[in-house]
Amino acid sequence: MNEVRVRFPPSPTGYLHIGGARTAIYNWLFARKHNGKLILRIEDTDAERSTQESIEGIIDGLTWLGIDWDEGPYFQSEHAAEHQAAAERLLATGHAYKCFCTKEELEAKREAARAAKTGDYRYDKTCRRLSPEEVAAKEAAGLPYVVRFKVPEEAGGVRFHDVVYGDIERAYDDIEDFVIVRSNGRPLYLLCNVVDDIRDRITHIIRGQDGLVNTPRQILLYRALGAEPPVFAHMPLTLDTKKRKISKRTHGEVVAVQYYREIGFLPWALVNFLVLLGWSPGDDREIFSREELIEAFSLERINRANSVFNYQKGDPKFITDPKALTINAHYLRAMPVAELAPLVEKELRKAGIWKEDWGENGKERAWFLRVIDLIRSRFHTLKDFATLGRAYFDDEFEIEAKAIKKNLAKHPQLKEWLPELADRLAAVEPFTAENIENTLRRFAEEKGAKPGVPINGLRTVVTGRLAGPGIFDVILAVGKERTVARLRRAPALFV
Ligand code: GLU
Repeated sequence: MNEVRVRFPPSPTGYLHIGGARTAIYNWLFARKHNGKLILRIEDTDAERSTQESIEGIIDGLTWLGIDWDEGPYFQSEHAAEHQAAAERLLATGHAYKCFCTKEELEAKREAARAAKTGDYRYDKTCRRLSPEEVAAKEAAGLPYVVRFKVPEEAGGVRFHDVVYGDIERAYDDIEDFVIVRSNGRPLYLLCNVVDDIRDRITHIIRGQDGLVNTPRQILLYRALGAEPPVFAHMPLTLDTKKRKISKRTHGEVVAVQYYREIGFLPWALVNFLVLLGWSPGDDREIFSREELIEAFSLERINRANSVFNYQKGDPKFITDPKALTINAHYLRAMPVAELAPLVEKELRKAGIWKEDWGENGKERAWFLRVIDLIRSRFHTLKDFATLGRAYFDDEFEIEAKAIKKNLAKHPQLKEWLPELADRLAAVEPFTAENIENTLRRFAEEKGAKPGVPINGLRTVVTGRLAGPGIFDVILAVGKERTVARLRRAPALFV
């Protein structure tokens, strides 16, 4: 294979969508696997809808995800003259013609076809039949025109092989003489895209299945421009559980890459999740390092079936697809604590509860790392450290309502017991897991209670949570002083 050259060509009209990110990821993986090049091309031909903010957002999002490109960003708008020249060339070589039909005329023909129920209307090629003199006369009269491509009139059709969807044929008869230049002189996207892909020497076009409708027309353009069409691989769509396309309008922020950054995703976890929306390695692996993924990736294993983004809008339990959270949780648990620490620091800073003593050279650094390691096993996002894990870092924290109900309200005797337990723990010396355990067990025995009753009460009061890591580790992590203080404050929680 010649050098692989692929591209990610977003139109900068909004935020980086997770579907767009998935396209970028597939192209990136393919380039990396074959030691090829990934080209970032900003398709900003539609000047009214393109924004600088969107361009920055896309670049930022890709950078955060760790998707690096080898060339670009190139800007489609910088090649307007080239797009125009290509259209001229197609006219000069007899592959295109000027069409002077007015909007009203076309609308009337479409209406007539509708009334006659002759099926889909396709332009009737009136202007394709004009003589050179007629064309010259209309031009001399200053009539506006569009440029249309001459689709072959012979039998047969455009045949191509899509790596994912297989052999595809589209009869010439079914393809309208499509417009390639608007009446304002601007070439259409379909043409610009092909001209740019030829110039950028793109070998493989990996894009969403919605691009498949353009492919036959684009192949005709390649041929007419004297270029070999690249290999095409279309990726399945990602739909929600009701089979709707995922979009910001329907689903909100959850479709934007930026959202995952805000809710505390690790970028690689998101890449890992997105790659599985439409591709599988052929075995049951779901977690991949960068190297493993590059090694495992192939276009042939892209699924044809649409993938499902399992998000229940309006259900507060669903901050995104639970599978994405599971994958993120896996990475939170598996990564070296030293790498996780700065990310947790960022969250604690954002929440305003960071202490310098926990920093790299701070005197409580070892404690900080130990706590992260202890509490991360139940967390799904980085945010959780500052919310669910807040009690480890700050004395102001919320107590879950369900923990109060289950662990305190049901056992009113704890109102007296917990402060008593505070005195017992205050006297424990040295404050080791073993001594703490003995104290708690003896306390329960004395009271004739199951050990779970004081232990769960203590957990609720000390961590604010219904469940968590082993209680002795929890007490050691929170420390004697703070544990005792929180137990003493416990009666206020009983009404
Ligand atoms: N700019 C197009 C888009 O964002 C790219 C289509 C293509 O990959 O050819 O949809």
